[in-house]
Amino acid sequence: DAETARSAAFETVITRDGRKVGVYANVGSAEEARLAAANGADGVGLLRSEFLFLERDSAPSETTQRDEYQAALEALGGKPVIIRTLDIGADKQLPYLRLPSVPNPALGVRGARLWASHPELLETQLRALLGVTPLEALHIMLPMVSEVGELREVRQRLEALASEMGLDSRPRLGAMIEVPSAALCADSLATEADFLSIGTNDLTQYTLAMDREDPALSARADVLHPAVLRLIQTTVEGAKGHCPVGVCGAAASDDLAAPLLVALGIDELSVEPARVPAVKAALRRLDVTALAAELPVLLALDGAGAVRGRLGEWLAQPT
Ligand code: PEP
Ligand code: MG
Repeated sequence: DAETARSAAFETVITRDGRKVGVYANVGSAEEARLAAANGADGVGLLRSEFLFLERDSAPSETTQRDEYQAALEALGGKPVIIRTLDIGADKQLPYLRLPSVPNPALGVRGARLWASHPELLETQLRALLGVTPLEALHIMLPMVSEVGELREVRQRLEALASEMGLDSRPRLGAMIEVPSAALCADSLATEADFLSIGTNDLTQYTLAMDREDPALSARADVLHPAVLRLIQTTVEGAKGHCPVGVCGAAASDDLAAPLLVALGIDELSVEPARVPAVKAALRRLDVTALAAELPVLLALDGAGAVRGRLGEWLAQPT
């Protein structure tokens, strides 16, 4: 009944064959974090901090940022909250951030690449993040990482600030896997990261060289392309024994992709808040071992359409 379904939504997912999977939510504000909690999310898998920086004349102060991050943490009542540092690029301009206009903004200075020219933005955001409690629940995530050096630099900055602020605990620090170089070198990133999270929206765009905003390509820019799936598999293998791997792109909310991601070894899916109960219910019915046995066949298929077809049939078979 409705009450049973409601209470199940708040419990951790254990699949039919006993695998534990975290179902987190993607949010764009502290307000939305409350919605995530109300829907039974096990945490926030991606808080896009851009909302604090857009639609204003100057960068938000340390206090403004800290209050919002603190509110998000409080909404989740001690469950993990992954806050992504500012992911802005030459295509998404902020009036107070003068970035040169370039021919290929998607391949330009964006995400973690911004800190070289704008260290003060990172510094203020890290201070604001370190100001929250409890730091044990806070996870800081860097967007658009393409090599481990970017992570190391932020780790050093974070360490220096934390000791300057006299803090004795540290938040976890992780990287998004959104570009093929990061997926292929996940083993090296995993030595430095406390967690990895695959941004399948950008990973699909950069692997297939198909603009995620181009409506003419939207049907073909499919995460189920075997090339993208193989990069996800490489990421999971690279991180094995080092750190957990989540997915926070739209693929995590997709009926076909979500079970496949879990079969590929993903530990945690981060989905739209409203989708949390449905994704949890679907994963509880899944036999991960049985689907994992199909992976060699699925990953050897010659296109996304073939994967969708075969996976759809497999999932529809009576259990
Ligand atoms: C992604 O690229 O999959 C992602 C989650 O980040 P965004 O959609 O904000 O680029
Ligand atoms: Mg992205």
